[in-house]
This record gives sequence, C-alpha cells and structure tokens, in this order.
Amino acid sequence: MVQTNATPQDASGFDLYPERRENSKTNLQKALGFMWSNPRVEKIRCEVAVQKCMDTSPLVKTMMYALRAAGCDIDPKRHISCEPCHPDVTGGFDAEMNQIIICQNGSHSRGVIQSNLAHEMIHMFDFCRAKFDFKNAEHVACSEVRAANILHCSFMTAMLQGETSPFDFGATHKNCVRTKAVKSVMASSSLTKEQAEEAVDKVFPFCYNDLEPIGRRIRRKSEDMERSYRERYSFALS
Ligand SMILES: [Zn+2]
Repeated sequence: MVQTNATPQDASGFDLYPERRENSKTNLQKALGFMWSNPRVEKIRCEVAVQKCMDTSPLVKTMMYALRAAGCDIDPKRHISCEPCHPDVTGGFDAEMNQIIICQNGSHSRGVIQSNLAHEMIHMFDFCRAKFDFKNAEHVACSEVRAANILHCSFMTAMLQGETSPFDFGATHKNCVRTKAVKSVMASSSLTKEQAEEAVDKVFPFCYNDLEPIGRRIRRKSEDMERSYRERYSFALS
C-alpha cells in the first residue's frame, strides 16, 4: 500500500545536493526556495497537481470511472489527501479511513503523481470491490502484485531493475512484479522478507492474471492509457 522511492531519482532531474550551491543563490532564489519548501505551499501545489491529473490523465480517469462503476464513490476532497511524509515514501492507502495519501514532499512531477494516484486507486478498488482486508498479508500481497503488474513493470522498468533483457522479457516480467510486490508488502507491514515472499508467492498465480479494471499492462510511451480510457465502458458491463 505504501509507495516508496524504489528507483533512484537523480536520472529524472532531481537535485540531489541542493545545499552545496546555497551560497551562490541570489536572494530571490533563496526566497523562492523557502516558499517552495513551505509545507502549506507544498500542499496547495500538490492538490493543484492532483486535480490536474484527475482532469487530464487517461489512466487516473479510467480508475475513477471504474471505482464509480463498481459502486465505490471517490470524492477527491474526502478520499485524497496531500500530506508531508518521510522522504522514503511517496504515497499510501489508509484502509481505515478509505483515503489515498499523496506525499506532497515526494511528488514533484505529474508523472510521479499519476503513478502514485493510479497505484493507490488500485488498492482502493480492491478494498471496495473485492472487500480486501488490508490486515491480511495475502490480501495486501495480492493488491501489490496487481498494482506492480498493471502499472510498474513495463519493459523499460524491468530492464532498469535488471530483471530482464530484450531477449527474455516474457519470462522475467513476472520477476519484476514479484520483486516490486515483495518490497511494497514489506514497506506497508511488519513482515520479514521471507514472510512477504511467502505471501506474494501464494497469491501470485491468481492475482497476476487479474488485470481489472485497466484490462492490460501499461507500457511506457504507449497508447495503453488512452486505450484503457476508451474501453472503460466495457468494465461496467462485465
Ligand atoms: Zn501499494
């Protein structure tokens, strides 16, 4: 349920060492820097970005449609909260409150917010539609397998994680999903690596094949998100 910074972010334009250039900044840059790191400003910026994502992202719009079609109402004001979090975490799903948490200090790009929102919406969908019990390790494992499978293990991601090569993608895509799901289960529970692996392996065959409500594995730089959005009505009929 908890989304962690599993991949290094220096490649995506993040400044890893901002303090080092502090002395060379102008007063205006320092004032702007203070403003951006102000939690209230950060919260507003996060909420604006979340709203924009809900208005424009085909993936997030498909998830919202599916949630509503399954009878799980989602009101952004009630069910999505931008909050400051530990730097290792980018988001989470609070099953008791039925609320998605987007970490305002860890969500600096539309891509990250889209990915986090869609990930947590899959947990919300499982919690509401399939009545998942997020205190049950196997239910948590199943939902994490589904989120990693549908959203996070595209060919490029699997390549970057060293889980596959262009020659054996089909066989090792499952390894990428398994690795990511085990990490997520450990991050959102007190399970050891062995216990998390056991829970993931037990549910894997069934949950890996359950692609509802997106219906496909989203590939990077593809038309998959738009395609899922166009086909969203088929979900309501199934
Ligand atoms: Zn998760």
